[in-house]
Amino acid sequence: MVTRPAVDLCSPCDSLAKNVGTQRFEAGLTEAVQKLSSHYSSTEKEHTFYHSICLETKSHLPEGISLSPHPACSFDGTVHYSFGSAQDLLYPICPYEPGPLFHKYPRKCGLFGVACEGISSQITFLLEESIALGENTDQIVSLLHFFFEHYGLGESHVHLSADSHNGLSKTDCLLQYLSWRVHTRRHLNIKISFVVTGHTRLSCDWFFGLFKRMYRRSRVDCLNDLVRVMTESCPRNIAQKCGTEDGTSLVPFYSWTEFLEPYFHSVIDIAKYQHFQLSHGSSVLTMKESVDSTPRNQVFHRENLAILDPTALPKRIAPTGLSAARQWYLYDEIRSLVNPAFQDLVAPKPSCQRPNQEEREVTRNS
Ligand SMILES: [Zn+2]
Repeated sequence: MVTRPAVDLCSPCDSLAKNVGTQRFEAGLTEAVQKLSSHYSSTEKEHTFYHSICLETKSHLPEGISLSPHPACSFDGTVHYSFGSAQDLLYPICPYEPGPLFHKYPRKCGLFGVACEGISSQITFLLEESIALGENTDQIVSLLHFFFEHYGLGESHVHLSADSHNGLSKTDCLLQYLSWRVHTRRHLNIKISFVVTGHTRLSCDWFFGLFKRMYRRSRVDCLNDLVRVMTESCPRNIAQKCGTEDGTSLVPFYSWTEFLEPYFHSVIDIAKYQHFQLSHGSSVLTMKESVDSTPRNQVFHRENLAILDPTALPKRIAPTGLSAARQWYLYDEIRSLVNPAFQDLVAPKPSCQRPNQEEREVTRNS
């Protein structure tokens, strides 16, 4: 069986298929078909690998274990998690009266999920726009850190899978963070694999899909309504608010990039590789281009890592909150569309000065 892309997100598929369609001579056509076939074959191997890891790790999990705080390395085994983000949701929304919200810009909430296939559960982080950092590696690493500290199963070995289309995931900072975790004995071994977009659907996408299907049929006025909808969509999809509408932070964000950079090297040719492995007691990062290719090692630690305090954490990043223009826009344009019980929470009267017309235009277009 060949995993053809379920959606048109795989750019190699798109260009290789077009190449087949434009060939006018047999030699060119044969070569183009071989290239497409080779692409399908390699993506199928990665797809099979992902499912085999999920099945294998599931069979070794302790009975009754759940996503909750566990001491580091208290479970001598491997756990697989997949993680990823989904498109922002908007609120308030009302599926039965969508008209008044046309051409409006209600509040946004980002989604980032970490799924544990072995126990069919996911923690979904709700990134309300007043606290979200936007497209930011520090944010992703901070969410993963919060997940491991509060919801991890205490496993000594971790296998992570992520979607390779998100350039924010496959970064030096993420790999340096994972290396820091094994160096400080939070785990003994970490592997991370990036699946080919369009060919493998991660478990976190399945949880997002259930949630969005329920969201489109629900009235949502505030962040707590999103939490309720998520629980109703699947009780095993557990919502974790990163902050509240008024900008109060509930999940700390740290400047991991700045913290880790002095202690680790950059990864050479990071874009070429899909599989990475880090082990406690080794300063080396092992990388593979595909699941069955020859591994390559790179010295990853700098010498000064030995003097890093294992309990030290990076500086916290304070949320910037909503701009004055955005606060006034929500008050002027969105407040009347919110259930009166939640108006002072979702679109309160701002205490800051009303901005001029030009600043308001910037907000609408952002
Ligand atoms: Zn493809």
